Amino acid sequence: MTAVQGTQTQRREAEVLDFDAIIIGAGMSGMYQLYRLREMGLRVRVLEAGTGVGGTWYWNRYPGARFDSESYSYGYSFSQDVLDEWDWGECFSGQPEIERYCNFVADKFDLRRDIQFSARVTAAHYDEAGRYWTVKLADGAHYRARFLITAIGLLSAPTMPRFAGIDDFQGQWCHTGLWPKEGIDFAGKRVAVIGTGASGVQAIQEIAKSARQLIVFQRRPNWCTPLHNRPIPKDEMERIRAGYPELFQLCRETAACFIHTVDPRGTFEVTDEERLAFWEELYAGQGFGIWQGNFRDMLTDREANRLMSEFVAGKIRERVKDPKVAELLIPKDHGFGTRRVPQETHYYEVYNQPHVKLVSMLEQPVDRITPTGIRTSAQDYDVDVIIYATGFDAVTGAFDRIDIRGDGGQRLKDKWTGGPRTFVGVMVDGFPNMFMIMGPHAALGNNPRSIEYNVEWIRDLLGRMNAHDLIETEARPEAVGEWHAFVHEKAEGLLVNEIDSWMTGINMNVDGKQTRTVVRYSGTAPEYRAKCDDVAAGGYRELRFASANSVA
Ligand SMILES: Cc1cc2nc3c(=O)[nH]c(=O)nc-3n(C[C@H](O)[C@H](O)[C@H](O)COP(=O)(O)OP(=O)(O)OC[C@H]3O[C@@H](n4cnc5c(N)ncnc54)[C@H](O)[C@@H]3O)c2cc1C
Repeated sequence: MTAVQGTQTQRREAEVLDFDAIIIGAGMSGMYQLYRLREMGLRVRVLEAGTGVGGTWYWNRYPGARFDSESYSYGYSFSQDVLDEWDWGECFSGQPEIERYCNFVADKFDLRRDIQFSARVTAAHYDEAGRYWTVKLADGAHYRARFLITAIGLLSAPTMPRFAGIDDFQGQWCHTGLWPKEGIDFAGKRVAVIGTGASGVQAIQEIAKSARQLIVFQRRPNWCTPLHNRPIPKDEMERIRAGYPELFQLCRETAACFIHTVDPRGTFEVTDEERLAFWEELYAGQGFGIWQGNFRDMLTDREANRLMSEFVAGKIRERVKDPKVAELLIPKDHGFGTRRVPQETHYYEVYNQPHVKLVSMLEQPVDRITPTGIRTSAQDYDVDVIIYATGFDAVTGAFDRIDIRGDGGQRLKDKWTGGPRTFVGVMVDGFPNMFMIMGPHAALGNNPRSIEYNVEWIRDLLGRMNAHDLIETEARPEAVGEWHAFVHEKAEGLLVNEIDSWMTGINMNVDGKQTRTVVRYSGTAPEYRAKCDDVAAGGYRELRFASANSVA
């Protein structure tokens, strides 16, 4: 193709393309990517299934939904104005405050004018000849854009249990991740909560306050530790604000971007007394300190992990009055920290109350949902409300729910059969001009710190393409292979990866997710960022590029 023909092609394409970039999702990722791409002068449209911004914090309105990252470490760091103007009210803010924060940011940067709400994306197909994406919505509308950026969340595809009769139930029912805006009034009602993961734990401790009767259906207990939330007084907020540069620097240095950092000592390098005193301190401390700031070998050394688990089991036995109930609440199938640690506020004490009952689904499997409640192998439980706290089809679920097709009509879902394969969690070979924020095999941790990094990496890559008149890029298959091998290497020797959980790609309620896979990058965030920085500094040799003049 000649240069003249190339220019003509470019002109023709500009006529067919509705946008330079389409971003799917208006959570923390999508909002920030929009801000950065608009700043570059790109024509951008965000397509969001919900009616408001916030993603996780828009959908998860269940009572008790709140951060387990310290609020001030979670907020965006990119805007001094936002840091100056926003005061966090609690160390671990609740959903209403976080949603207000997301709206504050959207208002401040006038983000809504480029966001289309109630716009659920059902398909995204790449046109190889034209080098653009066609994105289809549930209402039949479609748009064409050069670049497709997924900001669809790693915990955003709610899953229901495979119980028969769910629709037969005559009372009210709801999934925690699809909570109605008008709320649910539990006062005087008989309520069942199914599921005791992070959302279940948060919901149970709140619902118990007003329900007449609460029956908790537990499949497997988790190791829960105290959150120790508290309000942030004005003067403390001013001190936090003054310390933001150091705080974000700390988050850049820690393994998972939290303010908590691994203790360099090994569990057996201290005396028994020192170890116990340290664990007591962590248990009395706030947030994820006990998980992220524990001895360095807690998640790799079986004996160290066993001792730590015993320590937390002791706490549960102290807090739950009925020894039989306490035993049901102590995990026997995994060690402390090898699944996500739910953070609680008087969760265990809930089971000391006469109106609360714990049903182990291991002892009494659920047979079916009936018009009046839940039938287990042992008995019928009649209730007025059923809450499904049954989690998400994590990491790849939101991708699987969109018909994404790359070169040659290849489906992303098929490509990822047996586990995802990506380049730095951002790109996939065979899917040109598609970028993922919080994609599989990217660093996660305290998410917004990784989101900001991913967004800026994508921005820089698009900036380079713009500067060199490049209109197409794709990860080279060998680069994807190398990243895949690196991610697998990082997963070796970690106790976390020997346990069934969403972190190892397991979801018993989703077809094809019964075998453990490495869905998470388990290296440190600084190591991840160093690798990505190297890619940029090295001129993106891991990627293939094409200009309008080159033959597709
Ligand atoms: C209850 C809960 C508590 C959490 N607490 C923390 C915490 O304390 N700290 C932490 O770091 N992380 C936490 N997380 C993880 C949290 O998801 C991230 O912190 C962060 O919100 C992710 O932002 P995101 O924009 O990438 O994704 P999300 O917030 O999940 O947003 C994705 C958006 O994409 C939209 N979307 C998806 N598919 C489509 C489609 N097909 N069409 C149109 N729109 C679509 C969704 O509607 C959603 O609005 C929590 C998650 C949950 C569920």
